[in-house]
Amino acid sequence: MDRAPHPENVHRFETLAVHGGRDDLTTLGVHAPPLDLSSTYPLPDVQRGGDSYETLAGGGRPPADGSAVYARLWNPTVARFEDALALLEGAEAAVAFSSGMAAVTAALLSHTTSVGRPHVVAVRPLYGGTDHLLATGLLGTDVTYCTADEIARAVRGDTGLVIVETPANPTMELVDIERAVAQAGSVPVLVDNTFATPVLQNPIAHGAAMSLHSATKYLGGHGDVIGGVIACSEETAEALRPVRAITGAVLHPLAAYLLHRGLPTLALRVRAQQASAERIARWLTEDPAVAEVFYPGLTGDPLVGSQMRGGGAMIAVRLRGGYEAAAHVAGATRVFGHAVSLGGVDSLVQHPAALTHRPVAPSARPGADILRLSIGLEHIDDLIADLAQALASAPQESTAVTRAGVR
Ligand SMILES: *Cc1c(COP(=O)(O)O)cnc(C)c1O
Repeated sequence: MDRAPHPENVHRFETLAVHGGRDDLTTLGVHAPPLDLSSTYPLPDVQRGGDSYETLAGGGRPPADGSAVYARLWNPTVARFEDALALLEGAEAAVAFSSGMAAVTAALLSHTTSVGRPHVVAVRPLYGGTDHLLATGLLGTDVTYCTADEIARAVRGDTGLVIVETPANPTMELVDIERAVAQAGSVPVLVDNTFATPVLQNPIAHGAAMSLHSATKYLGGHGDVIGGVIACSEETAEALRPVRAITGAVLHPLAAYLLHRGLPTLALRVRAQQASAERIARWLTEDPAVAEVFYPGLTGDPLVGSQMRGGGAMIAVRLRGGYEAAAHVAGATRVFGHAVSLGGVDSLVQHPAALTHRPVAPSARPGADILRLSIGLEHIDDLIADLAQALASAPQESTAVTRAGVR
């Protein structure tokens, strides 16, 4: 990596990833960060306890001479992960949540209904859960779905937030963040950065107000954590933390410990997974069972290499044999696990129309002939051999490919 996202350019990404959130360890006399499981915290006295509560409830950090008060307001292990992630995103702050969807919920609650701007502009395609949350209007929001070119036209006087995902789930379409921000005008833009990770893309450097991650995916990387995090300005963090405290969508300290532990290897993992994905995407274009490969590096999109430092490690494929072939391949792989989720050390395959994008309106749902692959850290030859055998035994031509239905 030749570019450090840290605003002061003090250290490079890999150094920040190893040392972020660990500044005080030597003073504490420990080598590994402590895991603090406290549900409540001692109060120095009533006055300073009350002052600490006031600061935390208002979205601030605990005062140096005060207390963390209660674990729904603050947890030091969670704060270590947040501080480290903020450094990697080149952001002032980060706020962690119990899941990626809890992070989306907090971004919506803090920027829309609670400030009298209930309208949301959402660029499709989006993660199925985000699309569904907006479509239901469960949080009192009113959504306009549009393409990246239609943002300016969709923004209204009561628009509180523009939501963009790039690369977008599941077909890896890229959105130009700077163009989206320009079109949004004074409305803050949230970028779901889950697929790119801070290794490959830093939305805040391109003008986004918030960079959101389902930490469940690459940040965790080992399939054993569910969590979410938003990197942003300290001012935005002060709006997000009270929502987290009120709704109770806190990240568990053990999850935060595991996420923090995973950050030092994030760049190594993502670059190795990406190197395999690039080769697999090219190999897939030559397989006779494959009609189309969706991978950011493949079509020469100028955003790869500028906004995004590589194509990432997610691939989607459209199969000539339609739904039957997709269902067959999902069940026939031996190295690729058949499961939702992504970004882990183990490769996964899943059928978006049947699973992750099932709650999306039929007109916006991915085709039933599409499969999504998350490339892990297994040997590339084993991954290619596994896909080759699964594709070779798939039905080759489809009689009925439907875009809307699962089949
Ligand atoms: C998984 C995912 C989410 C939701 O995150 P959870 O941790 O499952 O709640 C949001 N956005 C994207 C792009 C995702 O892949």
